[in-house]
Amino acid sequence: MSRLAVFGGTPAVPREMRHVRWPVVTDADRAAVLRVLDSDIMVSNAPGETAVLELERRWAQRVEVAHCVGVSNGTDALSLALAALGVGPGDEVIVPALSFIATALGPLHQMAVPVFADIDPVTFNLDPADVERRITPRTAAIVVVHLHGLPADMDALGALADRHGLAIVEDAAQAHGATLRGRPVGGLGKVGAFSIQVTKNLPTCGEGGLVTTDDAEIAGRIRQSRQFGEVIAPGRPRDYLSERFGWNAKLNPIQAAFTTSQLDRFDEYEKLRQANIVPFLDRLAALPGFHVPFAPADRTHAWHVLRFRIDLPAAGMDGGRPGAVRDALCRLLRAEGVPAGQYQRIPLPQQRVFLDREGFGRGYPWAIAGTPVQDVDFPVAEQVIADSLVLQKRHLHPDSGPLLQRYADAFEKVWEHRDLVRSMAAS
Ligand SMILES: *Cc1c(COP(=O)(O)O)cnc(C)c1O
Repeated sequence: MSRLAVFGGTPAVPREMRHVRWPVVTDADRAAVLRVLDSDIMVSNAPGETAVLELERRWAQRVEVAHCVGVSNGTDALSLALAALGVGPGDEVIVPALSFIATALGPLHQMAVPVFADIDPVTFNLDPADVERRITPRTAAIVVVHLHGLPADMDALGALADRHGLAIVEDAAQAHGATLRGRPVGGLGKVGAFSIQVTKNLPTCGEGGLVTTDDAEIAGRIRQSRQFGEVIAPGRPRDYLSERFGWNAKLNPIQAAFTTSQLDRFDEYEKLRQANIVPFLDRLAALPGFHVPFAPADRTHAWHVLRFRIDLPAAGMDGGRPGAVRDALCRLLRAEGVPAGQYQRIPLPQQRVFLDREGFGRGYPWAIAGTPVQDVDFPVAEQVIADSLVLQKRHLHPDSGPLLQRYADAFEKVWEHRDLVRSMAAS
């Protein structure tokens, strides 16, 4: 057995390989940003603006939908999508118990109550049966997250939504380019919400969001809502008349131009990512008790986050608490040069904002009569959080293949020392 780095052995991942930058920034990206800077058109509502329009055109085409609207970030994309669907005070919106906080803030921003549903232990996405249990006469929509890049079970969720007359908003912030039977996410529900925040698979140089839909009316409403409720049309002077309720939630042209330039390389990166990640996961799948992410043949996984579950008895590490085993593994892996960690430490419903229910002050939106007391127990989400560890960001780089092979060396090395992990977790 080779000596663990934590005890002074040689780390499995050489130091000079560890620093990986994401996103990859090329001269083409720099030139795209400079073109906007030099154009004198630095807001999306300026006459003659083209950078935001171009990204919207390109992303609509890529997602195979009729319309795309650029907005300020992924959280606003969700909020504006729900607003455009008419979701408002007194409504309930079903969201998964495991996701990024923004998924549940979207409904709250519309004064609607997020109602949490548990996840599937294998896909980490919404469990359709638990969603169905939580539907009430107040339910207005379901936010379906394609968590970590794996498309959710849209067949079952779509059938459920149709049966109950509910709209589906896809939170595709982690799933750019992922497909279900060849169809891209973002075009599978009524509205799709993407983030292009700098750490995502399709990044900008900062913050941004994209909303996708086939519905011209919804797209039109979001266009107005992002711009104070005004109608901005090419070739027509701005009249400062607000036709509807609005925000200032525009996408900046510099951010748009950077992302359009990234989009030129997106499919190539995606292909390289598959080629780097699949062999890495194949090596890890051979470790006893180690579960690699599920990627069935009818879906492509965008691999935004790699989440691994540990089956303690099968790994020979039972006895300790799952969280303690995970922490021990992360400690040994980090010493080897693998930045293993956690993504979400608690299920969303256990976050303070949902426990305290202060919201907009005086308890709104929950204070609206009839809002039920919610569960805080989501056994599957809790189990998954406790017994899994994740890798983020570095594997997104198109040249990460050799690094991931060293990561696999580290996992194999740590796996040889499972007895140590067990005793670390027990103490
Ligand atoms: C990143 C993310 C968001 C929010 O996007 P921002 O652009 O950061 O506002 C929403 N949902 C999920 C699942 C995310 O990962």
